[in-house]
Amino acid sequence: MNEKEELNMLRDMLEHMPGGAFTYEAEGDQRFIYVSPSLYKLLGYEDEESFLKSVNYSFINFVHPDDYEKIQQEIDEQISESDIDFCEYRVKKADGTYIWMLDRGKIMRRPDGSRFFYVVVLDENAIMHKRLETAKKAKQDSLTGLLNHQAIVMEINALIQDHCEGVCMMLDIDDFKRINDNYGHIEGDRVIVTLSKALLAEFPDALVGRFGGDEFLLYFVGAKEEDHAEELGKKVVKIMNKIKINGSIPLCGSIGISLSRGGFFSVDEAVRKADEAMYSAKKSGKNQFAIK
Ligand code: GH3
Ligand code: MG
Repeated sequence: MNEKEELNMLRDMLEHMPGGAFTYEAEGDQRFIYVSPSLYKLLGYEDEESFLKSVNYSFINFVHPDDYEKIQQEIDEQISESDIDFCEYRVKKADGTYIWMLDRGKIMRRPDGSRFFYVVVLDENAIMHKRLETAKKAKQDSLTGLLNHQAIVMEINALIQDHCEGVCMMLDIDDFKRINDNYGHIEGDRVIVTLSKALLAEFPDALVGRFGGDEFLLYFVGAKEEDHAEELGKKVVKIMNKIKINGSIPLCGSIGISLSRGGFFSVDEAVRKADEAMYSAKKSGKNQFAIK
């Protein structure tokens, strides 16, 4: 790569990096020397000049006033070591909101003894957003978007550890193998997705998870009385029967409900009881609920 190509590549990188780079004078009013296009674009400015004008050309006005002193202290402490450690601060966007930046800088000395910083910053909000997204994905069932097996068990466990009384419900679709065999796996999948959406819409405050295959696990915080459990059981049977397989056949399911009755000992106990109740509902002829 020749010098010109290298320069073009660097320019392109500065334009597209996830954050930005800038240089500013270490002394006096800490005037900016250079700001990368990626940075002013990230902050919502069309061009370098409008960004510089908004901060009066100075690093001092770039940083949130509550963070400025803290980072100046860090810079002063490390100035002798020339390589500045990471520091975090908020910076103002064109719309007046603030975002967090993760900054790593280096102090440079000119032959005349004057000093300037060059700094690379990363957009912490974007990093955090990506992290949260990844964490959320790890908890999601890929077909339905509901909590997956591990996540629903963990979330119910957390509620039980916090002594949140409630109702645990296990739901297993009736004769699901036959749905797959008669109408195909795609129709089977559609039924699972439709049921998931219907459960979420009907119970926005409940924990709803796909326990596996055609089984769903739910937890309703605060539902303690048998009457409430019955009401929930009836509602779920109704929700299921409203869904039509292949456009005409009502979907059926067997529902097992366990009541905490003063608090579940563990998530295992809650799920085991709900599972046992679900099997009694199957044995009694399916498309119904049983309470344990
Ligand atoms: P039962 O009334 O006793 O519950 O009978 P069933 O046919 O529903 O039996 P079971 O619950 O054991 O069968 C579940 C079937 O669900 C087995 C499997 O082939 C199918 N299955 C599991 N996951 C999926 C999926 O993601 N999509 C589809 N289409 N089918 C699935
Ligand atoms: Mg089944």
